[in-house]
Amino acid sequence: MKSVLVIGGGVAGIQASIDLAMRGIVVYLVERNPGIGGRMAQLDKTFPTNDCSICILAPKMIECAGHENVHVLTLSEVKEVKGNAGDFKVKVLRHPRYVDEDKCTGCGDCTTACPYVRVDEFNLLGSRRNAYLYFMQVVPRVATIDGENCVRCGNCEAICDVGAIDLYQKPREMEIEVGSIIVATGFDLFDPSGIDEYGYGRYKNVLIAMEYERLICASGPTNGHLIRPSDGKEPKRVGFIQCVGSRDQKNNQYCCSVCCMHATKESILTKEHCPDAETYIFYTDLRAFGKGFNEYIERAKREYDVNYIRSRPGKIEENEKKDLTIWYDETVTGEVKAMEVDLVVLCTTLLPSKGAYELAKILGVELNEHSFFETKDIFNPVDLSIEGIFAVGYCQSPKDIPESIMQAKGAVSRAAEILSGE
Ligand SMILES: Cc1cc2nc3c(=O)[nH]c(=O)nc-3n(C[C@H](O)[C@H](O)[C@H](O)COP(=O)(O)OP(=O)(O)OC[C@H]3O[C@@H](n4cnc5c(N)ncnc54)[C@H](O)[C@@H]3O)c2cc1C
Repeated sequence: MKSVLVIGGGVAGIQASIDLAMRGIVVYLVERNPGIGGRMAQLDKTFPTNDCSICILAPKMIECAGHENVHVLTLSEVKEVKGNAGDFKVKVLRHPRYVDEDKCTGCGDCTTACPYVRVDEFNLLGSRRNAYLYFMQVVPRVATIDGENCVRCGNCEAICDVGAIDLYQKPREMEIEVGSIIVATGFDLFDPSGIDEYGYGRYKNVLIAMEYERLICASGPTNGHLIRPSDGKEPKRVGFIQCVGSRDQKNNQYCCSVCCMHATKESILTKEHCPDAETYIFYTDLRAFGKGFNEYIERAKREYDVNYIRSRPGKIEENEKKDLTIWYDETVTGEVKAMEVDLVVLCTTLLPSKGAYELAKILGVELNEHSFFETKDIFNPVDLSIEGIFAVGYCQSPKDIPESIMQAKGAVSRAAEILSGE
């Protein structure tokens, strides 16, 4: 059987789908969001090259969705899997978009006609309407109606020239047969409001790193203007706190594997936005293990005056001007010190995607103690405990984009072996 199911349309799932399709294999790419792209679509730039993230991802998204061998199933989830390697029968639940994908032109008229505003899950700091485009460069470029919150006022229907709105669409179930399955469900963000001492959620100028990525991004909620949420002023001193909720006994013990590098990237970008700003990275130890990573950090120090302080911050305090004081234990000297900053970025741990446990149960595969998909051994780095099912990218262990792509390519070769009966 010459078809493969890919679950998760982030960079890993997209790369796997393109490579399979190029080999003449039919792909069903199941994505739970209204569009593909995953977390990489939310990033401003990517380390260690500072490429514009969406500029290098968008052509891949278009290539993937436009390939005749790829069926992109958005707003969808896998509900049942039966069978064995070479012959799996899969049930996919397709949630209603309330918009006919074949008719919608992506003009965005419905998004301006909708009067109801909500938090924007993609931009994090911004807002969106109940009729919305998931993000500016979304693929497929079709609108979505937030069925849960929509009051069916009909404004979107009235403005849509092509009659694409269908407010009474129902969920649909679809059955597919595939020879192999690749899981690429990535990660979800950790909410640090439970770490009371850092004040996230209470202090307006304490953000998480993904919010910061959106704040400095040209397509983000401030069109790329780096301003403090409390007063709209440019920050003059920004502190980045590493390992929030990771490498810690109370929350998660594993290293998220990317925060040393993305804090460095965000510090460089801060200086590019506000050349007078000072940046401080409060780190546990620097894990710059990838190609060009150490050089990137050296360049950040040399060319952008990024300051690295080996420390464990214990507390953040806010004054009446909403400025912040970071109290930290400088682990080299053992001294307790304080630093005043305008903005704090918490580089939080990243969690296995919500629903990983349920998906593992449906697939019959094992998770490790942190709920990442458990791979077999070092000679089978993408194989899961059931033959013919593979996992790639962040869903099987913390990793960056280049490593996710490498694994996707590895899994494609393993899936092709299964299909050819090797
Ligand atoms: C703040 C921040 C900055 C970063 N900066 C960089 C950087 O500069 N360079 C770099 O190399 N890395 C960076 N990373 C890491 C990078 O984001 C990840 O390595 C990459 O996104 C992993 O890709 P993925 O496809 O495995 O997962 P994801 O990007 O998380 O994609 C997973 C996809 O699967 C979907 N999904 C999840 N569960 C299901 C399900 N049950 N059914 C269907 N679909 C599902 C999700 O909706 C999502 O679209 C950064 C991470 C963060 C948090």
